[in-house]
Amino acid sequence: MPGKPDIVMPKFKTVIFVHGCFWHRHSACKKCTTPDTNREFWLEKFNKNIQNDLKNRQMLEKKGWNVIILWECEIENDFDRLMNDLIAKLMMSVS
Ligand SMILES: [Zn+2]
Repeated sequence: MPGKPDIVMPKFKTVIFVHGCFWHRHSACKKCTTPDTNREFWLEKFNKNIQNDLKNRQMLEKKGWNVIILWECEIENDFDRLMNDLIAKLMMSVS
């Protein structure tokens, strides 16, 4: 599967990615920092990650999958709300 999703739920035609905020550049997140040394290197690496994420998402959606991204910081800080959202989304995917 494109991008190797962390969780695949064929019944709901849904895949879930758990993304680290740093590597996958969670925008407006305080974990999404850029190291001061080797800035060019990091920016290039981050860009590549973002592009891959987008490409994988588009490929999956083209095949009819729902793609859900869970961010590391949300799992740490707001797990209950996240699970409620997730369940709501899954219910929508079967209705
Ligand atoms: Zn985050």
